[in-house]
Amino acid sequence: MVYDGSGGPPQIADIGIRGDSIAAIGDLGDAQAQRVLEVGGMAVSPGFIDLHTHLDPVMTHSDCESHLRQGVTTSLGGPDGSSPWPFDAYLDSLSNLGVGMNVGYLIGHNTVRRNVMGLDNRAPTPEELEQMKAQVALAMEEGAWGISTGLKYLPGSFSETEEVVALSRVASEAGGIYTSHLREEGLEIFASVQEAITISEQADITVVLTHHKVIGKPMWGKSRETLAMVDSARAKGLDVRIDQYPYNASYTGISVLIPAWARAGGQEAFLQRLADPILRDSIHAGVVFNILNDRGGDDLARIQFARVSWMPELEGKTLKYWCEQQGLEPTLENGADLVLDAQKRGGASCVFFAMDEGDVQQIMQHPYTMIASDGRLVNPGEGHPHPRWYGTFPRVLGKYVREEKRLPLETALYKMTGLPAHTMGLSDRGYLRVGMKADVTVFDPETVADRATFEKPHQYPDGIPYVIVNGHLAVDEGELVPAKNGRVLRKTKP
Ligand SMILES: [Zn+2]
Repeated sequence: MVYDGSGGPPQIADIGIRGDSIAAIGDLGDAQAQRVLEVGGMAVSPGFIDLHTHLDPVMTHSDCESHLRQGVTTSLGGPDGSSPWPFDAYLDSLSNLGVGMNVGYLIGHNTVRRNVMGLDNRAPTPEELEQMKAQVALAMEEGAWGISTGLKYLPGSFSETEEVVALSRVASEAGGIYTSHLREEGLEIFASVQEAITISEQADITVVLTHHKVIGKPMWGKSRETLAMVDSARAKGLDVRIDQYPYNASYTGISVLIPAWARAGGQEAFLQRLADPILRDSIHAGVVFNILNDRGGDDLARIQFARVSWMPELEGKTLKYWCEQQGLEPTLENGADLVLDAQKRGGASCVFFAMDEGDVQQIMQHPYTMIASDGRLVNPGEGHPHPRWYGTFPRVLGKYVREEKRLPLETALYKMTGLPAHTMGLSDRGYLRVGMKADVTVFDPETVADRATFEKPHQYPDGIPYVIVNGHLAVDEGELVPAKNGRVLRKTKP
C-alpha cells in the first residue's frame, strides 16, 4: 500500500528506485532490479521528516540510528534558538564525516545573541542588532532553512518581540521559516502564541509553533483557544503552523523552574544572587509558583530526573522521592529548595508530567499540526532520555492511529511527510512521486509501535523493517545498515 505523502488514499503499487531517485511507480512486474523487497501487506510511505531534532551529538552519533529506526530520513536541527556556529564550517565538517540521514539546520536566535551580547539582560544597541542581523543573513546564505527561537531560554528570554521580528525578517527575505519555542507555554501561553503570530505578520514569515503544548494544571484544556488563535491568524492570511510530539510530558533542564532573571549573566551570577537572602527568597517563591502553576503540575511526583551528572542514582527518580529520601516532607517549598540545590550543583535534565492528554489529542488533530520529535540523537544506555527520542513517529502510528483511531493513517503520514516538506520548502522530498529523492519508510500498520517508555526509554520501536535514504537501505529487515547515505541539505535561494 503506497501512501504518497499527500494525505490522499493509498494505492497498491510497485516502486522502482534508480540511483538516489524514484524512477517509477505502478505495476513493475516485468522490471529487473538488483534487489527486490517484497512488502505485501506493508505500508510504504515517504521517509519521515522531523522538523525539530536536537542534532548536537551528530558528530559522535553520525549513523543516526535512533532516528532512522523510527523511519525518519530527514531531520531539521538547530531548534529552540540554538544552532551550530560558525555555521558553514560546521556543515562542511559534517558533510565530510558523513551522516546516516539527511540533515538541515536552522540558525538559532540564542546562538547569535550570545555571540554578540553574551548573556546580558537588555535590549541590543543598534550596532549589536545589525551584527545579529548580519550573522542570520550569513547563515541563510550558507544554507540555513530559517531561524529558530527559544524565548524561554537564556539569552533569548531577554529579547523583546521587535528584536525577533528584525531577525526573522532577514530569514524571511532569504526564503526561510521561523520555528518558535514560545516564551511561555503555561499561564502566559495566549500572550506567547500572540507574539508568534505578531512576528509572522510583521516579518512576513511562516511560523511554526514548535512542540506546541499547554503546560500546567490551571491551563489544561486551553488548547481549544490556542488552536482557535492559529485558525484566525490563518484566516487573516498568515502562515502559522504547529509541530508536536505525542506525549503528555516534556523534557528539559530543571532550570526551567527558576525565573529567568535569576539566571541572567550565567551560573556565577546566579550563585551570587542565591547567596543574598532577600533575592534567594524571591527566587524560591518563583520556583514554588512554577511547580504549582507551570511545569511542576502542582505535584513533586510529576518531576522525574533524567540526567543528573552529580548524582546518577537520582536518574529515573522523582523530585518527591528525593525530598523523602532527604527526610523532608514533599511540600512545594521543600521541592523548590531541592530545585535550587540541583541548579547550584550544575543542573539536571528532567521529565515534567504537566500536560493534559485531551490537549495532546486536540493539537494532534489540527490540520496544520505536524509530528516532530524534539528528540536528541542517542545510543542505548546513554542517560535516561525522554522516550520521544526513540518513539515519536511509531507512537503516533501505533497508539494514536491504530489503537485509538484519533487520525486516519494517511492523515498521520501527511503530518510526517508532505506537510513538513512543504513547510520547510523542501521540493524534492516528502512525497513518493517519480523524480523525487528515494527516501522511503516501510512499516507494518498492524504492528508498528513505540517501545520506549519513561521507565525504560532505551528501546527501538517495532514494525519498521525497511528505511531507504537517497536510494540506499539504511534499515534492512529491522537492522541498521551502517552506511552513511544521508546528505547535509542546504537551502538554496528561492
Ligand atoms: Zn523546545
